[in-house]
Amino acid sequence: MPNDRAARIRRLLSDLVAFDTVSDRSNLPLIDYIERYLASFGITGRRILDDSGQKASLWVTIGPEDKAGLVLSGHTDVVPVAGQSWSSNPFELVEREGRFYGRGTADMKGFVAVCLAMVPEIARARLAMPVHLAFSHDEEVGCVGVRPLLRQLGGAAVKPLGCFVGEPTHMQVTIAHKGKHGVRATFRGQACHSSLAPSGVNAVEYAADLIAEIRRRAREIAAHGERDDLYDVPHTTLLTSTVHGGTALNIVPDHCAVEFEARGLRASEAKELTDAIIDWAKAEIEPAMKAVNPDCGIDFEEILEYPALEMGSEHALVTLAKQLAGRNSHAKVSFGTEAGLFVSLAGIPAVVIGPGSIAQAHKPDEFVELSELLTCGDFIERLVAHCTTHRDLGDLVQ
Ligand SMILES: [Zn+2]
Repeated sequence: MPNDRAARIRRLLSDLVAFDTVSDRSNLPLIDYIERYLASFGITGRRILDDSGQKASLWVTIGPEDKAGLVLSGHTDVVPVAGQSWSSNPFELVEREGRFYGRGTADMKGFVAVCLAMVPEIARARLAMPVHLAFSHDEEVGCVGVRPLLRQLGGAAVKPLGCFVGEPTHMQVTIAHKGKHGVRATFRGQACHSSLAPSGVNAVEYAADLIAEIRRRAREIAAHGERDDLYDVPHTTLLTSTVHGGTALNIVPDHCAVEFEARGLRASEAKELTDAIIDWAKAEIEPAMKAVNPDCGIDFEEILEYPALEMGSEHALVTLAKQLAGRNSHAKVSFGTEAGLFVSLAGIPAVVIGPGSIAQAHKPDEFVELSELLTCGDFIERLVAHCTTHRDLGDLVQ
């Protein structure tokens, strides 16, 4: 009954938002809550704890364990609210004019709430293929939590046929997203009194050479690189995000740290671009630093990476997603999700489709529309129907 469903979604979302699961906190109270809820329908999940023992992902199978099924995937962590000006308590669900306000309502506790609200219906269905729930932690800090789960799934005897990642896309069938690679370059210079500048190694100025080269390459790509107009930014991007260096006007700085990132259209493009920049810096910048003092130089470290998602528009999972969503079109998004990792780490095809808008994510007064949550509920209802009549991705029986 749709009214019951709306009430269930509202109650579950209210409970989920009340857990402060900003990525640097434990998500175990929220996982406990989900486990208790599932237990009331006789369903048991499997926890995958992280090394700290303070965070867990949850893997749930409803239906036949020995058959390949479909995954509904969401993350349980949210971004911080510090420094943001909210009209109400971000960890208390507020309903106004058909919208639910609160941290994570769009990204992406709204989707998790809908999945959980559908559990009674999923549990009642005579499933020929299982429906899985995958709830991860630490997505917002580089898709960290889902990786151990995916390595396990990749080696499992029976692997899911496909995954729907419920990041906010306004329920658009999203078949691709960019991949990202982030690098920190730490310049080790040689300090001296600024009146003796030529005898020092100016870490900030050498860092500026790197930044200028990153900017030159970014412009080159924007002007002449590959384009895909399904993306809002239709090309690969490259930029410097942070710079920290120098201590005083009269000291040649001996330290500068620069963080830069690439977001690429193709699966491994982001890493290829940052690797090329590292090679260039080692060849063009570092020798001049070392000529003054061999202890000077540049250290590079990877600080974040996830692969792009590139599903073919003709893939059976994409066709199924369109049938379940009642849409003919598909989209591509510039923001990253766990979907690319489902493909690359576990060989599980994935499509991104979820309620709400990325425009509201990470912002104060984040919200999701009830109507979108209900549309998502309809999507899952059709998915469950598919899983009662099919053991594959084949065409949906209307
Ligand atoms: Zn998200």
